[in-house]
Amino acid sequence: MDLREQITTIKGIGEKTSACFSKLGIHTVGDLINTFPRDYIFYGEPVDIKDTRIGVRNVVEATVFSYVDVKRVRSLKLVTMTVKDSTGSLKITWFNQPYLKNMFHKGETYVFVGEIKVKNNMRVMEQPEYYKPADYENMRQELQPVYPLTKGLSNKTFQKAVRSSRSAYLALKDYIPSEIRREHNLMELTESYENIHFPMNEELLKNAIRRTAFDEFYKFLYELKILKKENVKLVNNHKVIQGKAVAEFVEKLPYRLTKGQQQAIEDILSDMGSDNVMNRLVQGDVGSGKTVVAAAALYACAKEGFQGALMVPTEVLAKQHFDELSGLFSDLGICVEYLVGSTPIKEKRRIYEELSEGKIDVLIGTHALIEDKVEFKNLALVITDEQHRFGVNQRNRLAGKGDYPHVLVMSATPIPRTLAIIMYSDLDISVIKELPKGRKPIKNCVVGTNYRNTAYKFIAAQVAEKSQVYVICPMVDVSDTMDLTNVTEYTDTLKEALPPDVVVETLHGKMKADEKNEIMQRFLDRKIDVLVSTTVIEVGINNPNATVMMVENSERFGLAQLHQLRGRVGRGEKQSYCIFINGKEDDDDVTTRLKVLEDSNDGFFIAGEDLRLRGPGDFFGIRQSGDMQFNIADIYNHADMLKLAQEMLEKYSDRIVPDVADKIKQINI
Ligand code: ADP
Ligand code: MG
Repeated sequence: MDLREQITTIKGIGEKTSACFSKLGIHTVGDLINTFPRDYIFYGEPVDIKDTRIGVRNVVEATVFSYVDVKRVRSLKLVTMTVKDSTGSLKITWFNQPYLKNMFHKGETYVFVGEIKVKNNMRVMEQPEYYKPADYENMRQELQPVYPLTKGLSNKTFQKAVRSSRSAYLALKDYIPSEIRREHNLMELTESYENIHFPMNEELLKNAIRRTAFDEFYKFLYELKILKKENVKLVNNHKVIQGKAVAEFVEKLPYRLTKGQQQAIEDILSDMGSDNVMNRLVQGDVGSGKTVVAAAALYACAKEGFQGALMVPTEVLAKQHFDELSGLFSDLGICVEYLVGSTPIKEKRRIYEELSEGKIDVLIGTHALIEDKVEFKNLALVITDEQHRFGVNQRNRLAGKGDYPHVLVMSATPIPRTLAIIMYSDLDISVIKELPKGRKPIKNCVVGTNYRNTAYKFIAAQVAEKSQVYVICPMVDVSDTMDLTNVTEYTDTLKEALPPDVVVETLHGKMKADEKNEIMQRFLDRKIDVLVSTTVIEVGINNPNATVMMVENSERFGLAQLHQLRGRVGRGEKQSYCIFINGKEDDDDVTTRLKVLEDSNDGFFIAGEDLRLRGPGDFFGIRQSGDMQFNIADIYNHADMLKLAQEMLEKYSDRIVPDVADKIKQINI
């Protein structure tokens, strides 16, 4: 089986299933075997029904005892039945799967795996997985992979497809010579595939993950190295020499720049005026004021008669940047426009035209900027904000719209300096350390769920003082639809807990762009007091009047992401507060980790602590929301592999040449 073949060549995958796989970006056999489980489940021995526990996953082996019943409860179709073993009985329910009625018959025995809840004084196992006892026995011998799924695609189907593609990865040849592998304790390539998909035990899984992380880093650095060679030679076609104009621009700002901001602007001007093209990363903690740095760079470019583009990950953020930059550039004769997916087609056409004629100086937008129709007259500077949300590919596509324009990337995910040098070895780095003057440090508390009501009272009091509040809703990672009900239900609960005149609104990823923009605008206009949201507001949003950030289920986030969320408050003069609800208080590791946030507001420190606490090998922990789109590797947990990959590259770049068809599919430079 060839890695480039379509997955429909796999036995048992027809058009319908393959369409589901496509939604996950899986088209070829190579894509399939390179999509790794996001978790592993250990299937334990069944327990007696009398010994089952409430609120956790239980495995029981039991016999269907009642007839299977289907009834309609509001919009749900509910399938129920009772099962029993020699020690007791248990009710079982499924939602919206009426076909299950014909699946089970009185007297048959199955193994059921699912969480048990108490409803109307009865123990109910909801939505369990079910297996024939013999099948279950087979499954128990391995850790069971859990794959990323989408509607219509079950984990069972996914597993089967991977199993049917085994021959594809077993045929791969390892690109690392065996003596080097042995020296560094790296698992063989095909063995790593086998154990990542179907690990026989945790030790083998750990080694397989280690090897795969190595591969991802090595390939990444390898490609970067080649890219860097090209970059060095790039001649600057767009010299920008506008120090004086920028100084005037800075003079007119309503505040004084911090040292870090000044330095960053100086670095940028010096790059853009030099003989080589700029390729720079500005790293600054959340709230350190990166937008104005971008604005200064765009201003310089426009003054020189060139065009500049600023790309951001969400429409909401694009709109916000547009408003801010339009404000800063008003009266300065700079034409700024705004282009996003939801821009009306007529408006889009006008922008395309004026852009190609050079009438627009600065274009702000989302991925809409990299569409083919977007053509610039003389693009000299491309900026990506919140760079961790973009692939290198997208960055390059935007740059491709000009004749080697200057490149500036802005990141608020601070990573320790050493790692930054490795990860961004193709970029020069400016760091903005300090926050603008006058900011009061955010007051933090990490508390258990029993503090929720106190928190609601506190929120009500803050709203009474005309401040605004973000609440990050509990996450359910089962599926998007579950996520949705969750936000809505949570909002209802919150509304009940707060005084009736408090305006509570919901924002979530499934909403249309218009709807999201509209809600954000009303939030910025202070017409909404409390905004309940999923993590869609994580990046960039700037509302200086928001003073409380409450995060439910903090334990499910990485520290860096929590720090990002916290960065939504503390942006104005008022005292701000962050409440992290810890849903796993009895877990000491979680509690220690979250405590870091209570102790410090410094993003660089937090990133360092994250690395120290979680360390390499802790792969069952929460995955860092990535700086880079790696499948498995993450720069905190696998720092040792990153270092090894870099050392190996220095030593053996001509001997160890990674195969493009191998593990890494997302990184395209
Ligand atoms: P981030 O670095 O997170 O992108 P922003 O650029 O959104 O931060 O800036 C946050 C807020 O701080 C904005 O309201 C901005 O106007 C303000 N700001 C930026 N620089 C300064 C400064 N030197 N002094 C005071 N306020 C500033
Ligand atoms: Mg920002």
